[in-house]
Amino acid sequence: MSQETIFSKIIRREIPADIVFQDERVTAFRDISPQAPTHILIIPNKLIPTMNDATVEDENVLGHMMVVAAQIAKNEQIDERGYRLIINCNRDAGQEVFHIHMHLLGGKSLGKLIS
Ligand code: 5GP
Repeated sequence: MSQETIFSKIIRREIPADIVFQDERVTAFRDISPQAPTHILIIPNKLIPTMNDATVEDENVLGHMMVVAAQIAKNEQIDERGYRLIINCNRDAGQEVFHIHMHLLGGKSLGKLIS
């Protein structure tokens, strides 16, 4: 069985987080250490540790994460200027929390993809 992370406690509202959206499939909350004026994490309520663990059964929730991210970008009024969605996988990408999360970053010019 996969090891729960702090994100499972955020989903269950056992520890505080600035949750901006939640439904039966996903939860979205502000990153504790924002790297841009808008920095929100969108996560599946189901624990999937890394992108390597995603299966065909997860296609629905993974697609939903992207649609929710776009809606949140609209709510944050960064949709017209633009934003970036990032999912880090494992060591070389710097993944720290092993519960898949999509970073939604925006509110400033983000520069090139890799710096
Ligand atoms: P990763 O490097 O794994 O892609 O990103 C993990 C992100 O989770 C980091 O940006 C980090 O600031 C954020 N984070 C880690 N722990 C917490 C927490 O307890 N609450 C919130 N809101 N964000 C967290």
